[in-house]
Amino acid sequence: MQSFEWVDAESVEQAVTLLGESKDGRPVVAKAGGMDLLDLMKGGVLSPHRVVNLKGIKGLDGVRFDARQGLELGALVTLSRISREPEVRNRFVALSEAAEHAATPQVRNAATIGGNLLQRPRCWYFRNEHFHQAGGDDLARVRDGQNQYHAIFDNQRTAMVHASTPATALLAYGASVELVGPGGKTRTVPVSELLLPPDMKRPRDTVLAPNELLTRVRIPAPAAGTRAAYHKQGERESYDWPLCDVAVVLQLDGRVVRQAAIAMGWVAPTPRRATEAEKLLVGRPVDEELARQVAKAAVAGATPLSKNAYKVSILETVVRRTVLAAAKA
Ligand SMILES: Cc1cc2nc3c(=O)[nH]c(=O)nc-3n(C[C@H](O)[C@H](O)[C@H](O)COP(=O)(O)OP(=O)(O)OC[C@H]3O[C@@H](n4cnc5c(N)ncnc54)[C@H](O)[C@@H]3O)c2cc1C
Repeated sequence: MQSFEWVDAESVEQAVTLLGESKDGRPVVAKAGGMDLLDLMKGGVLSPHRVVNLKGIKGLDGVRFDARQGLELGALVTLSRISREPEVRNRFVALSEAAEHAATPQVRNAATIGGNLLQRPRCWYFRNEHFHQAGGDDLARVRDGQNQYHAIFDNQRTAMVHASTPATALLAYGASVELVGPGGKTRTVPVSELLLPPDMKRPRDTVLAPNELLTRVRIPAPAAGTRAAYHKQGERESYDWPLCDVAVVLQLDGRVVRQAAIAMGWVAPTPRRATEAEKLLVGRPVDEELARQVAKAAVAGATPLSKNAYKVSILETVVRRTVLAAAKA
């Protein structure tokens, strides 16, 4: 690891100013929990000349719920806090479940929601510094190589998947993030537009500018009759990323679905809405047969690679079970 400067930022303004300065082609990067950043630095994938520590910035670690405005999470709120906050657990159960099942207890205690959304892909080609140095065609390596954990949809340009599992739940809830840039310029970006398909040649997989900070995550207040469920399916329960994860948010009128959102993670370069499957739910009560049809529609059009066709049937099962769980929640 190359040596680097360390700055403890005291305010959003100071952090944004510091982030704008790069030196000798080496960037300045923000550090929240540091779980992903330090992995990238130790692995030789990222070599910043300065690290700006955000943890001392006041006012970015709040959790607020308002019946009209909905939920607001400061960017520095940890995954463990999200998993146990009563306001999140009672009203946004798919998010609290996603936070509870990410990573390990130790990681969740340090990892923040802002850093989680902005982490880079876990593709083993991406994480290998030699592949970065060699340059060349990322997709060709994956297509001919070890692609068992890669994308089964939208994988014509890249087959890497975005790593954040809370992003799956946030997508289903229609969440957005607040970004602050130089001069306090603030913009709100829906989670559906925040994440970009991962790319080895780009320094980030999001629409953030190098000198922007993610300051807050917001979820609209749930409509009456909202029910939700989340399931992360991995090879093991802890210390692992998923094979796929699914979040389902239903607005029910009695047993009849009025609105449905199904988000699927780890199956495409960015978390994906199953829009055709959602349409099947609207206007109907959920039962085993409908859930089966919905799950089939959710995996229609999958284009698995040489070693990951198994993910299609796992995803179909997880969608079916999560739809049923949401309807019963
Ligand atoms: C064994 C293991 C299993 C894991 N399993 C999962 C899993 O199942 N699901 C999952 O989602 N994750 C998983 N992870 C990843 C882990 O959750 C992330 O590394 C962590 O959430 C990143 O958050 P952080 O606060 O530590 O971010 P950092 O490492 O501090 O930052 C990540 C990136 O975001 C930037 N950044 C951070 N905060 C801001 C901000 N506010 N504004 C602008 N830029 C910012 C940093 O510059 C960096 O590029 C796993 C990790 C391990 C080690």
